[in-house]
Amino acid sequence: MLTLKDPSLLKTQNFIDGKWVDGSAGTIDVTNPANGEVVATIANGGADDATRAVEAAAKAFKAWSRMPAKQRAVLLRKWFNLLMANADDLGAIMTAEQGKPLAESIGEVSYGAGFIEYYAEESKRVMGHTIPTISNDRRLQTYKQPVGVVGCITPWNFPNAMIARKAGPALGAGCTIVIKPATETPLSALAMCELADRAGVPKGVISVVVGDNSREIGAVLTQHPKIGKFTFTGSTPVGKILMKQCAEGVKKISLELGGNAPFIVFDDAHIDAAVADCIATKFRNCGQTCVCTNRIFVQSGIAAKFTNKLKAAIEALKVGDGFEDGVTIGPLVNETAVGEMQEFMQDAQDKGADIQVGGKLHPLGHCFFEPTLVTGITDDMRIAKEEIFGPIAAVQIFDTEDEVIERANDTQYGLAAYFATRDIGRVMRVAEQLEYGIVCSNSGVFSTEVAPFGGWKESGIGSEGGQEGMAEFFETKFHSMGGIEN
Ligand code: ADP
Repeated sequence: MLTLKDPSLLKTQNFIDGKWVDGSAGTIDVTNPANGEVVATIANGGADDATRAVEAAAKAFKAWSRMPAKQRAVLLRKWFNLLMANADDLGAIMTAEQGKPLAESIGEVSYGAGFIEYYAEESKRVMGHTIPTISNDRRLQTYKQPVGVVGCITPWNFPNAMIARKAGPALGAGCTIVIKPATETPLSALAMCELADRAGVPKGVISVVVGDNSREIGAVLTQHPKIGKFTFTGSTPVGKILMKQCAEGVKKISLELGGNAPFIVFDDAHIDAAVADCIATKFRNCGQTCVCTNRIFVQSGIAAKFTNKLKAAIEALKVGDGFEDGVTIGPLVNETAVGEMQEFMQDAQDKGADIQVGGKLHPLGHCFFEPTLVTGITDDMRIAKEEIFGPIAAVQIFDTEDEVIERANDTQYGLAAYFATRDIGRVMRVAEQLEYGIVCSNSGVFSTEVAPFGGWKESGIGSEGGQEGMAEFFETKFHSMGGIEN
């Protein structure tokens, strides 16, 4: 049973055009992955609901985009304040529907709110240019103007922050937005919307359509003529489908897709710090983030020492219900994800990998899987190539810097990469050569609203965060003014 300080934050309907409304496809249950219990029964939205939301967003766009940026900023700032004031409840809602430890959920709420605050501020600093003229009877200027209605689909691994990273810059830029959150985690999105409404964000500016009709709703959000831009966070295969759908109407797109992050430990690394960073990047959110460490490369000279320390750190992780004190690893999001971990382990074992710790379903059952360490990884194992998205750490050995850079880059993904070394020259060389949108040296922490987050190759298009994140929501207009007397 989910108990909240403010129970009215637990919303169960779609939020369209400023109203809470039922879905056109009945209802659907949201379950807690830690125990299988139903957290809430919610509206099941469909294409009709999405269409109404897009049309309401198009209507709201006129006034919202023309509202002086300073006024929009005040409303976004109020929304930020309410998100922070209700962080405990938003965190509890997230843990109930997604499973991550409560402290991690509350941390995500604050991280997400940071985007609303940052883009409230940035919205006041949107500048066009004055370009030196090419003839005296003309003046040349550019304007930055909002792209229009934004369609947005988000995943279940960060039910709050992935919405905030899109809604903050979109609304700050003067766009309106229609959100389809993941089927598994609609409650965080709805609670955020309730707080936007309480902050005074006008009706139609932000709408949410929930439920399991992702494909039908996705078709509307990528293809409705009134959609100006589509932004998605999720898997690469689904991103490709949605990109094709956007091609028809030449919609602007941003995609944050899968990753296959290397974590490289050189012989000269500070080993204890590297172990701590490796644990943080591998096991955050039970290994279910697109920037989670996926391939651990350790230089041969310190392989045994590093692996032993990593093993001890993995054994110290506490698995359990995210509401229990001290739990660091919650459940996987659903049973399908558990099945995938079992398949990865079976494949690795069949091909000769050594399980150092874990490797199977956790005694707690449901969606819990043991934090795992495997060594003896070879290139033919699925675990060496594919995105794991779970609590399995797989260690590979390398000998030279050139070799590991080549192996780290040998993937179609290019989101985040980590490495540990105390040689400053190597820090520069490796950072420059890794083909990734984010490189992180001697640290496992990088996410912040003030810097751009985005993938290369099949990891995505565009950036979220920083000034780059806001640029995604503008069109550039060139105004050539003639007839000017001199
Ligand atoms: P994940 O592995 O994170 O669930 P997905 O790419 O499968 O990644 O899902 C990300 C989001 O995309 C979820 O909100 C999901 O409901 C939605 N989704 C999945 N398939 C489609 C589709 N064909 N069209 C639109 N949305 C989709």
